[in-house]
Amino acid sequence: MNELPHELPRIGIGIDVHRLQAGRPCVLAGVPFETTFGPVGHSDGDAVLHAACDAVLGAAGLDDLGSLFSDRDPANAGRASAEFCVETMRRVGERNLRVLSMDVVLETETPKLKPHRTAMRARLAELFAVPVDRVNIKGKTGEKVDAIGRGEAMRATVVVLLGPR
Ligand code: MG
Repeated sequence: MNELPHELPRIGIGIDVHRLQAGRPCVLAGVPFETTFGPVGHSDGDAVLHAACDAVLGAAGLDDLGSLFSDRDPANAGRASAEFCVETMRRVGERNLRVLSMDVVLETETPKLKPHRTAMRARLAELFAVPVDRVNIKGKTGEKVDAIGRGEAMRATVVVLLGPR
């Protein structure tokens, strides 16, 4: 197969689901939310950052988050997912790539994203070294359907475009 020019953009997608449980902290896109429940996970359970890392790694042809940071490794227990982003971006930089744009959909009944959207965009822009006007985040409810609609889980879906650094 002929190689394509490095300049051509690469698209990636990441999807992450976490169960919600009372008494868990809630950090989404690296921003702490004041809630009485949060995502269950081996790390801090930040579904947005997990999906974003998977999208970026996918676009770069670098496998996935689970192979970089095993959820069976005690060293990753309770870990801030922002650290996963740092390592993801280090590997992407090694390949001379950068994030050109990122679009996020977070499906959850609660918490409402609106009060935190600006902060979430800013944090994603910082973590993935992309201008804030090239990051977007949308909140959707599950319309009372399935596990998300019943408030049992949340799902983040992220699409990114990578280009040359
Ligand atoms: Mg996850």
